Amino acid sequence: MFHFDNSYARLPDRFYASVYPEPVEGPKLIMFNEALAKELGVEADLSDPDRLAATFSGNVVPQGAMPLAMAYAGHQFGSFVPQLGDGRAILLGEVVDRGGIRRDIQLKGAGPTPFSRRGDGRAALGPVLREYIVSEAMAALGIPATRALAAVTTGEQVYRETVEQGAVFVRVAASHVRVGTFQFFAARGDTDGIRELADYVIDRHYPELKAAENPYAALLQAVAFRQAELIARWLGVGFVHGVMNTDNMTISGETIDFGPCAFLDEYHQMKVFSSIDHGGRYAYRNQPGIGQWNIARLAECLLPVIDADQDRAVDASNEVLREFGERFQAEWIKVFRAKIGLSSEADDDGELVQQLLSAMQDQEADFTLVFRGLADAAEGLDERFLSQFADPSKAAEWLGLWRERLAQEPQGDAGRADAMRAVNPAIIPRNHRIQEAISAANYGDFSFFTRLLAALEKPYEERAGFADYMTPPTPEERVTRTFCGT
Ligand code: AMP
Ligand code: MG
Repeated sequence: MFHFDNSYARLPDRFYASVYPEPVEGPKLIMFNEALAKELGVEADLSDPDRLAATFSGNVVPQGAMPLAMAYAGHQFGSFVPQLGDGRAILLGEVVDRGGIRRDIQLKGAGPTPFSRRGDGRAALGPVLREYIVSEAMAALGIPATRALAAVTTGEQVYRETVEQGAVFVRVAASHVRVGTFQFFAARGDTDGIRELADYVIDRHYPELKAAENPYAALLQAVAFRQAELIARWLGVGFVHGVMNTDNMTISGETIDFGPCAFLDEYHQMKVFSSIDHGGRYAYRNQPGIGQWNIARLAECLLPVIDADQDRAVDASNEVLREFGERFQAEWIKVFRAKIGLSSEADDDGELVQQLLSAMQDQEADFTLVFRGLADAAEGLDERFLSQFADPSKAAEWLGLWRERLAQEPQGDAGRADAMRAVNPAIIPRNHRIQEAISAANYGDFSFFTRLLAALEKPYEERAGFADYMTPPTPEERVTRTFCGT
């Protein structure tokens, strides 16, 4: 079924623990992502869902798999934990996809591992569906993210705040190496481990760096740049990751771990959804700063391999941290220029965007619909844009400034509205819709989940059948808190 070639399993023993999934009582297939399976060259017999469920629950370990739990450490809300590791995820193996990219196939919720600590190694249905929905939505939005290959229910119960149905999520990632993976070795003073891991990720994710004068310094910079770009893209769609611990930041630049994440409805720059993020550490606006903080933690791990002279290594890392800020700023303005339909650059563009955001925050305007409505305004129809603001006077004033700026565009007006619609989604996975899908699934009805996935497949199109997915929540529907998937 899978043409496995398991490079991580060929790394030294201390990088992971070999462990088999713990069989479950009654696996049932919820969803299988055929399009992704094709991309991965996975051969699946769709006429036999029980067989698929047996494989994706971990009951049947496919040929060629070398199941293992990866070792990692991490800063959780700023506090260092020297040993985390895959406590409820098991890497089955790797496949090389149709595009030649090596991808991990991982079962999340497949049973305890040596890294489980006090956890049960399981996942509950709600968080599994949330991860499925949001990761596929991210992919459809064009934002790098881990993917969903399948989800199954286990026929078993898991005990969280309440009793929930157990489920397994099948995750696909460019790799599961995290900032925290480097921290695991750094915490043990294992410089050989750092070097070996760095060589591994250069080979797998950044092969062009092998030729660099200092490949490890170049690696730090490359990871920093990908994260800066990624976070700018998140801000562009109103995404709040919610738990940007260093163990939840990949080296590949893919978004990972969709626990307490959420998309903004009304815009507020300090918006937090996660029930455990009391200080707002991972608020919308704090994400670039936290990204930089995490890259600083990666830099600390890499210092001994960047340069034997520690002062020189520190200088090189500080330079990268400074560049992270610059790269983020450059990417952010690029994203938001496109969102407001600008194709040329002027000095005051950042200010213009900030003025809009500030009006949106004052008037609790819906983030997604404001920008979608602005595409209509580019065709002279201001109504949808203006109607997002409780008091539209400031927004109307802003439209005047925006049109003055548009008048300076060398390319003229042709194609602007369509270009804006291609970067400003109509449909995002709104929290109340995710909640609706989860609540219905808890009662055995997966139709809301399926329809939400279908709506999110083409987020930049306004399709008649899915118009209801564009609307923000009513006050009763509003979801203000999201929870970690543990
Ligand atoms: P997360 O919040 O999902 O990023 O997980 C943080 C750490 O807790 C990771 O080491 C996980 O493997 C571990 N963990 C989370 N949930 C469980 C669970 N139910 N059983 C065992 N380990 C878990
Ligand atoms: Mg995690």
